[in-house]
Amino acid sequence: MTTYLEPKLPEAGLAGSYINGAWHWPEGRLTVENPSRRSAICEVGRGTAKEVDLAVQAARTALPAWRALAASERGNLLSELGRRLEENAEDVARVLAAESGNAIKTQSRGEALGAAGVLKYYGGVAVEQKGETLPLGPGILSYSTREPHGVVGSIIPWNSPLQLGAVKISMALATGNCLVLKPAEDAPLAILKLAELADGLFPPGVFNVVTGVGEEAGAALVAHPGVDKVSFTGSSEVGKLIGKVTADRIANLTLELGGKSPTIVFPDAIAEGRLDTCAQQVANAMRFMRQGQSCTAGSRLFVHKDIWDELMPKVAEKSAALNVGDALDPDVDMGAVVNAERYGEIRAFVAEAEEQGATFLIGETPTEDPQGFCPNPTIITGVDNSWRISREEVFGPVMVAIPFETEEEVIEMANDTHYGLAAFLFTHDVSRITRLTRAIDAGWIQVNQGGGQIPGMSYGGTKQSGMGSEYSIEGALEAYTYRKCVTINIEGGV
Ligand code: NAD
Repeated sequence: MTTYLEPKLPEAGLAGSYINGAWHWPEGRLTVENPSRRSAICEVGRGTAKEVDLAVQAARTALPAWRALAASERGNLLSELGRRLEENAEDVARVLAAESGNAIKTQSRGEALGAAGVLKYYGGVAVEQKGETLPLGPGILSYSTREPHGVVGSIIPWNSPLQLGAVKISMALATGNCLVLKPAEDAPLAILKLAELADGLFPPGVFNVVTGVGEEAGAALVAHPGVDKVSFTGSSEVGKLIGKVTADRIANLTLELGGKSPTIVFPDAIAEGRLDTCAQQVANAMRFMRQGQSCTAGSRLFVHKDIWDELMPKVAEKSAALNVGDALDPDVDMGAVVNAERYGEIRAFVAEAEEQGATFLIGETPTEDPQGFCPNPTIITGVDNSWRISREEVFGPVMVAIPFETEEEVIEMANDTHYGLAAFLFTHDVSRITRLTRAIDAGWIQVNQGGGQIPGMSYGGTKQSGMGSEYSIEGALEAYTYRKCVTINIEGGV
């Protein structure tokens, strides 16, 4: 019999919004559901413009003292939050698995520890908020400092809420900004657990969480005149809406949006006993273990025709070997997609491709009314790069595989998309690597591996995958501060 790793939920009273260092219950409620079981987990507050306004006011009040604090002291507090999260990682991971559907074994545990790592990384590099001096000659001292924008409004999706929340908290707070964070309506609980851990650590108003739906709390946050910078991670559609609103008042904006990333495999990648590893990395790049619900999923696989018959069965074998089921089952590798709407969209994408004549290497069109939203890993062949399933972000465990013959042809197919987030290239030919990494439009290209982001790297997309980059201290300085130049005439002057 399976012993599920049941979560300890936020205590009653700790699932409202966290504003000005205290818990606040808005009038409305949202029910958070467990997508593996299609059952309610608990209720959280449905914040509106009223809660957003309270949180922004609190952040504005806290700002002068917070930005005046030495960067090392801000960093120490972030490191401490990282330590608290690390100590409570199992607790938080179970809540995360329950609400997001990301398997505890392969995803949620790693995400909780990864988020703690992000907080600790920024705790350490907070002191790197340095400026420059200009050699203008004797008598003139000219230098620049990096100033925080002020109050940051951050909005995150449900697919990796803790990791993305930790990135937004770290980048905003390390650089001296105060933050109002709005988690996704489907997965706000792990972020509320993090707020519980942060309670009493930062001065009131420095870090606020407003739970609620996008069109209400999210839209109010983006439009609030007291928000100097918006950092958004989510779909390209919502990113465009947000861009229009922030443009109106020239608020600073970072967008981390969707992707339809290519994975390209050349024959030499499987030579000399590398077939097995290469197939595993191709499956990893597709993020099957996250139900394909990753912005960087290598969901378009281009395989050289000479190795198609050798590589494809191996990729299929590795992917089909995943144990699919309840995210809280300690033996499950791949959990559930987040909600009925997303499940229905995935189903529609696959059904359409099936009608167009596609073939299933593994998987199938998901069933209509399952007990839990757990589709199987699916690899589809016999598709064209122009079909909807090859062009749009399915955000599910569905990979299309297309053969190619020449380098020019595969570059053209890889770039034939409005996205430009990530790409995965498998070859050991160095000159080919340099040619292709130059030619492919993507913010992040991995060669011979299908790994995830690591703190310290600058990560962001081109084309409609976004603007700005996060994760690195350089990205944080570019996105969360502005340069202030000071020129002092030491001798004479007027
Ligand atoms: P989404 O855009 O529907 O929602 C994301 C967030 O925006 C949620 O918190 C939601 O409440 C809020 N929101 C929705 N409408 C809003 C509005 N009008 N105004 C303000 N906020 C609003 O995206 P999703 O479906 O939750 O997430 C999946 C998408 O996120 C995918 O496209 C994925 O590729 C993308 N994503 C990108 C990255 C990245 O780093 N580039 C990382 C993770 C996910």
